[in-house]
Amino acid sequence: MFDAIKKKLNSGENESISSTAKPDISREKSAELFEKAKTYFPGGVNSPVRAFKSVYGTPLFIEKGDGCHLWDADGNQFIDFCCSWGPLILGHNHPKVREKVITAMQNGMSFGAPTALENELAELITKNNKYIQKLRFVSSGTEAVMSAIRLARGYTKRDKILKFEGCYHGHSDSLLVKAGSGLVTFGETSSAGVPKAFADETIVVALDDREAIKKAFEEFKDQIAAIIIEPVPANNGLLLQEKEYLQFLRDTCTKNGALLLFDEVISGFRIGFEGAAGYYGIKPDIVTYGKIIGGGLPVGCYGASAEIMSMVSPDGGVYQGGTLSGNPVAMAAGIAQLTELLKSGFYKDLNKKTEEFTEAIQRFATARNYKFKVYAIGSIFWFAFADSDAIRRADQIDPASMEKFKKLHRELLNRGVYLGPSGYEVGFISSVHTKIDLEKAKRAIFESLEVVFNAK
Ligand SMILES: *Cc1c(COP(=O)(O)O)cnc(C)c1O
Repeated sequence: MFDAIKKKLNSGENESISSTAKPDISREKSAELFEKAKTYFPGGVNSPVRAFKSVYGTPLFIEKGDGCHLWDADGNQFIDFCCSWGPLILGHNHPKVREKVITAMQNGMSFGAPTALENELAELITKNNKYIQKLRFVSSGTEAVMSAIRLARGYTKRDKILKFEGCYHGHSDSLLVKAGSGLVTFGETSSAGVPKAFADETIVVALDDREAIKKAFEEFKDQIAAIIIEPVPANNGLLLQEKEYLQFLRDTCTKNGALLLFDEVISGFRIGFEGAAGYYGIKPDIVTYGKIIGGGLPVGCYGASAEIMSMVSPDGGVYQGGTLSGNPVAMAAGIAQLTELLKSGFYKDLNKKTEEFTEAIQRFATARNYKFKVYAIGSIFWFAFADSDAIRRADQIDPASMEKFKKLHRELLNRGVYLGPSGYEVGFISSVHTKIDLEKAKRAIFESLEVVFNAK
């Protein structure tokens, strides 16, 4: 009984929070830097989402990160839930990663020749991941996916690939393609500069739709090299799929001689060391990793069975290379980070912490009848201004709900909480977000939700 009361008290249900909008934090220095940056870079940034186009104000220019905290050029401090878009599962400036990187750097930055560090990182991965036997390191998620697609095409001797509306796979030509109208469509390019001929090789269907998959494989019999999916789609909200559906994709590929490509650039090493493949117990034919694998430095990787990987040059005819691939400093960061992840209880603690955090926020919102759902898996979460707790497809997200996110984002910044600057982006919790940090963040979120839902 006492426990039940205590639980209720802690749940946020009974908290009386009456909140009004806070004045905006100072962004003078950031604004100045942004003006200057606009003279150098399109939109003032080196990656579009950073430009804060979907939220209020100028982007914050970051000066420093430590643990789960960020400091901007104006000296504002934030609890960070963006974590560099996922890589920083140990938080900013983790001493183990930093020290390993410094040690590696003392021997030079790059050789364009093999080093033992590449073996070390590869061994850490393959020894603890039953889904890949051989791999290749590259320098970004985009490069990993682009290379994996080429491998799938080379291996199957087929040209078409099937992707899903609502999954992001980096910015290579074949994948900057969105659905046209109709159940099964050739893609339409989603960026200027992508030749239509490329889009014609990419079939785009909705997630969570078996009929569309069946139809695609009938219509393009023996032409589809691979289905590519984010098994945990986390780049357009968090569109969690049912395990049965992922299994259906596995079976469909097997039946049709196509490869199943799991793009685990976000989910890899995040929802467990073996990523979504391990979480669902479904074996992909090719997997791509990025983000966490480099410990905050630029690393990507694709891997598969030894047999499939034997197609890659110089063993096989699928060409792929890179001047800075397997860079020793980046490898060192990856080794240090993955070593921490392999420590006993790492994911259990991290995931439990996330569950408590997200459930408390959901209870708060539910008790007030807010149209608000917290989606979560592992240490990833997404705030949806929606009634449904089963959003599985991109078209189930109401674009109008993003107005609410915009307000939330501003209120949170004003209360010292940093979320990625778009309502379609997920948040991440790191191992160094402490109970106290999460308590503070929760309070800020409660107050901000009050403002968002009660604003006149
Ligand atoms: C981030 C991401 C990519 C692209 O990785 P970059 O390192 O930004 O090129 C590809 N696929 C998924 C699933 C991602 O989350």
